[in-house]
Amino acid sequence: MSIINRRDIIKQIAARSPVDVKPSPDIYDIWAADVFDLEKMKNVLTKQIFSSLEKTIMLGTPLDASVADEVAAVMRNWAISHGAKYYSHVFHPLTGATAEKHDGFIAINRSGKLVSEFSGKQLIQSEPDASAFPNGGIRSTFEARGYTAWDVTSPAYLMETSNGATLCIPTAFVSWTGSALDKKTPLLRSNMAINRTASRLLKILGHEENTAISTSAGPEQEYFLIDAAFAAARPDLLLAGRTLFGKPSAKGQEFGDHYFGAIPERVQIFMQDVEEKLYRLGIPAKTHHNEVAPGQFEIAPLYENSNIASDHQQLVMTTLKAYAKKHGFLCLLHEKPFKGINGSGKHVNWSIRSAKLGNLLDPGDTPHANMQFLLFCGAIIRGVHKYGNLLRAVVASAGNDHRLGANEAPPAIMSIYLGTQLTDVFEQIKAGALKSCEKTSLMNIGVDTIPPLPKDPGDRNRTSPFAFTGNRFEFRAVGSSQSISDSLVAINTIAADSIDWVASKLEEYIEGGKKIEEACTTVLKEIVDNHSAIIFNDNSYSEEWQKEAEKRGLPNLKTSAEALPVLRKQEIIDLFEEQKTITPIELAARFEIASEQYIKTIDVEAKLVLDIAKTKILPASIAYLTEQVESFEILKGFSLNRSNINIVAGLIKELQNAIAGLKINLHKNHEGDIENQLKFYAKYVLFYMGEVRAAVDALESEVADDYWPLPSYMEMLFIR
Ligand code: ADP
Ligand code: MG
Repeated sequence: MSIINRRDIIKQIAARSPVDVKPSPDIYDIWAADVFDLEKMKNVLTKQIFSSLEKTIMLGTPLDASVADEVAAVMRNWAISHGAKYYSHVFHPLTGATAEKHDGFIAINRSGKLVSEFSGKQLIQSEPDASAFPNGGIRSTFEARGYTAWDVTSPAYLMETSNGATLCIPTAFVSWTGSALDKKTPLLRSNMAINRTASRLLKILGHEENTAISTSAGPEQEYFLIDAAFAAARPDLLLAGRTLFGKPSAKGQEFGDHYFGAIPERVQIFMQDVEEKLYRLGIPAKTHHNEVAPGQFEIAPLYENSNIASDHQQLVMTTLKAYAKKHGFLCLLHEKPFKGINGSGKHVNWSIRSAKLGNLLDPGDTPHANMQFLLFCGAIIRGVHKYGNLLRAVVASAGNDHRLGANEAPPAIMSIYLGTQLTDVFEQIKAGALKSCEKTSLMNIGVDTIPPLPKDPGDRNRTSPFAFTGNRFEFRAVGSSQSISDSLVAINTIAADSIDWVASKLEEYIEGGKKIEEACTTVLKEIVDNHSAIIFNDNSYSEEWQKEAEKRGLPNLKTSAEALPVLRKQEIIDLFEEQKTITPIELAARFEIASEQYIKTIDVEAKLVLDIAKTKILPASIAYLTEQVESFEILKGFSLNRSNINIVAGLIKELQNAIAGLKINLHKNHEGDIENQLKFYAKYVLFYMGEVRAAVDALESEVADDYWPLPSYMEMLFIR
């Protein structure tokens, strides 16, 4: 009998009452209360220092280091007055996690007295022991030094515990030689690439003034909540974040009754508590609802500048996990916690924003704006077609592999959904219908031929990995546990490259004597002629699409083992290098680390599979079989059907064989080239894990319920 009894767990859950939380305060009172934002700085900084800082934040001008001391002083005062005793440079290392090192605001002065200290230097830079973070060979082990550098554009904030608070300072993490060891640095660089290239294009289109251009992101986060009491009896959930075993519950998501259904009270209280904290952190949490699978939910904030959105997204994940604990839940951010029901993703809504012109992916009201929109949109089409395999590579992970292509999430094939109206416009361009629009002034471009563009395309295709949704693109292949930064960097870089290409082409045609209108339509036609294979408006989950995509020559990289090596392709190395977002050394490191993570994740899971199968499932099944054999011996006078005994015995043998198969493969020497290792894990280790699982799940249907050591899918998904 299992140490942790399933009945006790259920009793414990039945006895729970919602955590006592105080009634929600007025949102205006708590909004950004824990953030040292521009408004608060304005109140306490001298005018000169504030305007210097504001310029850096709003316009991206380099930080004037001399302002740091004064900023540090006011920041410290604010933090201490809010109960802070520590400060921490927070950064996002390449594992995708959040890392922080805490220091007290203390120093000992010359006379040996304790004083409070936090200098400009400490604000700007810190040197955590970098050796513990993966660097993919960027730093040799003897040179473990790396440093964190204050990101002025992302505001500092407070994280509280019941007995104090820490001032958290968002930072970039770089090696001593200046290579990025984190997820933020390339994102900042990629926004610069967008600024550079989009400004260039806008200038050709007649917008002379220089305004800051950056990208916006609105990430929707899906997650599961189960009662925390179950986790104690599920080592797979505790250590791998997903179930490695479990027969499907008799009822799953087939009725579609969970999606947008009434939110259970305990969950509602949890969500409101989470959102209260998010509001305090200035994170504009906007939407929450049930998702498709039982026990699955979603939270989405309003979109923000992509650098801030990325920092905030990490905080959303941290807060969900921490607050789940407080409410007696376990929050699962894994892409596929339960087999047979939907997994979780993160939809990253993305657009390009000019401080002066607004959203450049908004079709707009005038034909002029529409031509500008079509050029940006066309650039994205070209980029995704040329570098779709990169978009696949940046969402590759052991967890996300269970999801992509499993008829519930976008397939591993990258394509763009444009909607029928916009596709029609591009079709017209292809047919040369826009050629006639040679008007003299820029304002008249396409006036006759470009129909009013849909503000909100009525048809909402949910199956496309990269969908145009009215005024933004929505990248839906991102995994629920992944940092959104990698995707944003890839999208920004791809977009910058193609915007650059569009600008160069326009210049070339204009120099060749074409009028701007004609130059624009020629470029657009070239894009449609060469890249419309990437546009697909139908059901991306269908069998037919797999075949059709192959005909169109679109890559279909089903596993991470196939997708990750894309990062080693020369054209990808060149792309990042040309746009100055990731250096070749950094990219090589990123490939190494992502590959290592993939291998380590499956390795841990395989060990867990063996552990649980050998020490929990086999003993329980054998005990049950023994009891059955003994019972039937006593009952033999009744000539009962003994087939169940044979089934159980057969499955136990199958399980033993599968365990042996997995063991042998796990111990095989899989040294050697990392790509071979990736393939080995994708092909063999996962296969034998599946064999063990198949035997275990079949046993779960045969072995008496009170013998079964693991909480069932039915219990975890429906009892709360
Ligand atoms: P849906 O589930 O219909 O896709 P949601 O409302 O759940 O929509 O999420 C949409 C997300 O897209 C939100 O985060 C929203 O702020 C964001 N968004 C809206 N407009 C833009 C834009 N122009 N650029 C980037 N993100 C946007
Ligand atoms: Mg969405």
